[in-house]
Amino acid sequence: MKPSAPPPSERSRVRRAEDRGHYDRETIHAIVDAAYLCHVSFVDQRGPLCLPTAAWRVDDHVLIHGSNGSQMMKSLAQGTPACLAITHLDGLVMARSAFSHSMNFRSVVVHGAFEPVPDADKEEMMHRLMDHLAPGRRLEARAPDRNELAATTVLRLPLFEAAAKIRAWGPKDKEEDLSWPVWAGVLPLAQVRQTPRAEACIPADIPTYVQAWAEQQPGPA
Ligand SMILES: Cc1cc2nc3c(=O)[nH]c(=O)nc-3n(C[C@H](O)[C@H](O)[C@H](O)COP(=O)(O)OP(=O)(O)OC[C@H]3O[C@@H](n4cnc5c(N)ncnc54)[C@H](O)[C@@H]3O)c2cc1C
Repeated sequence: MKPSAPPPSERSRVRRAEDRGHYDRETIHAIVDAAYLCHVSFVDQRGPLCLPTAAWRVDDHVLIHGSNGSQMMKSLAQGTPACLAITHLDGLVMARSAFSHSMNFRSVVVHGAFEPVPDADKEEMMHRLMDHLAPGRRLEARAPDRNELAATTVLRLPLFEAAAKIRAWGPKDKEEDLSWPVWAGVLPLAQVRQTPRAEACIPADIPTYVQAWAEQQPGPA
């Protein structure tokens, strides 16, 4: 499979299994949009760290947020070099040989440095997080007040130096292993939305947008 766009930089060029690398915005955006979380790697006075955190996309940036007191937020807000990864595991690939077992996945790696979202844009960015979690909910939930916004750092990382890597096929066995008498194929895996569970004091009727959320199953495009 030929990449649909050139890598944006030498360090973001997928070298290992390069046919799985993709650099076009559409592919990268779709993988980011299907995620609720990312892992951010960086080095601070504690040494190398890789921390999971909630993530969402607005235009050509991935956003994260956290308490002003978070050491991660403080380090990243200063422009510390960072690398962000998002991974969706789509299946376990059972090959004839143990060696050729693999995984199907969609992943994105972004290199760069975060920058703080200006105060004037913070509220809108937090609304966009709510839209990402459950479209429609921001119209009903109490919006963040001035103190809550002031206590929150919102950071954005440009999706410029980004690469996607995708594996979405069955086992690739060596020719001489194809006759080995064992089951081969893919054990598919997916993130599944389940029936919403209301708080005990909430009326039984669930809002349309909650129902819509539950009925929409995310997965590979
Ligand atoms: C669920 C899952 C399971 C995996 N299991 C294994 C495993 O068991 N063993 C193994 O060796 N590899 C595995 N990989 C692949 C792994 O992520 C690396 O792509 C691979 O190890 C190549 O590493 P490298 O240092 O040679 O990368 P290179 O190809 O040299 O990386 C160069 C650049 O390509 C980009 N890049 C590399 N990997 C990815 C990626 N996964 N997604 C997006 N961009 C990327 C980055 O910008 C990176 O800087 C797995 C990936 C996933 C998502």
